[in-house]
Amino acid sequence: RKCVVVITGASSGLGLATAKALSETGQCHVIMACRNFLKAEMAAKSAGIPKENYTVMHLDLASLESVRQFVDTFRRSGMPLDVLVCNAAVYLPTAKEPSYSAEGFELSVGTNHLGHFLLARLLLDDLKKSDYPTKRLIIVGSITGNTNTLAGNVPPKANLGDLRGLVGGLNDLNSSPMIDGGEFDGAKAYKDSKVCNMLTMQEFHRRYHEETGITFASLYPGCIAETGLFRNHVPLFRTLFPPFQKYITKGYVSEEEAGKRLAQVVSDPSLTKSGVYWSWNKNSSSFENQLSKEASNADKGIQVVGDK
Ligand code: NDP
Repeated sequence: RKCVVVITGASSGLGLATAKALSETGQCHVIMACRNFLKAEMAAKSAGIPKENYTVMHLDLASLESVRQFVDTFRRSGMPLDVLVCNAAVYLPTAKEPSYSAEGFELSVGTNHLGHFLLARLLLDDLKKSDYPTKRLIIVGSITGNTNTLAGNVPPKANLGDLRGLVGGLNDLNSSPMIDGGEFDGAKAYKDSKVCNMLTMQEFHRRYHEETGITFASLYPGCIAETGLFRNHVPLFRTLFPPFQKYITKGYVSEEEAGKRLAQVVSDPSLTKSGVYWSWNKNSSSFENQLSKEASNADKGIQVVGDK
């Protein structure tokens, strides 16, 4: 049978390119878990993904209620779950004021981390039940959360501190919208959320890999400078960022290439090792990369994921 892969945020950028690459293998059925149903349908159509290779299901990660509803809808479809890809994200670098998820968490961490965390935790049971030989849970990470890299050292740097803001509910009402309890900074909130994504992947690996056989992995596919992720940035940034990444840092990858990389982590039989943060070198070969100190701190992993 075909491998059933759920991809969050498959309506554009990396998620869409991955759905397309997986569809082209002829061996996958992709569940496009998206907040805008029509946009996702149109994106699949214009990417040329054949109808029989995908299903769009509604999921708004900025609402924990919607996450639960998605899980219900998916279960009612009767399809097995073989691979879950947590890919969707928002990035709000120019926001002066925080905005909030349905339950009142700062929106970047609320969407990128909390929504995905609940989704992954609930769907773990479905992954366990699947009879597919290589079951995987993949969370898209980023270089920007890794302070052991040049890109990760561009201020404001990721820093979860003692997580007092997260414990306080990520809003001004009780504490602060930022995980470390500091002043709101949209770019930092995104980077912090990516650190949480990478911590979650490793903590899940430590807790559940042996018992379940599920592969837990994260990745940095390269700088995909033209995706919608930068839609909220100032226009000058959006014009200059792609050539800067192409010619200066040489970290640029096309959406198509990045989609092929994520598709490898989903379905390549040689990339089944669990607990790995994958990256690619200049020749587009994959390698196991090192996470920063904070992104691999097991104590913080436990704090971010919570008690068993
Ligand atoms: P895009 O903005 O193109 O894609 C993000 C996707 O997330 C969109 O489909 C968007 O939906 C979806 N999304 C946003 N909010 C929600 C929500 N509340 N509920 C459900 N879906 C939501 O960006 P990218 O493709 O670049 O980003 C994909 C991943 O890659 C992210 O995890 C990002 O952190 C990561 N990444 C990107 C890099 C880059 O250089 N671009 C580098 C490293 C990592 P909609 O279409 O409705 O807006």
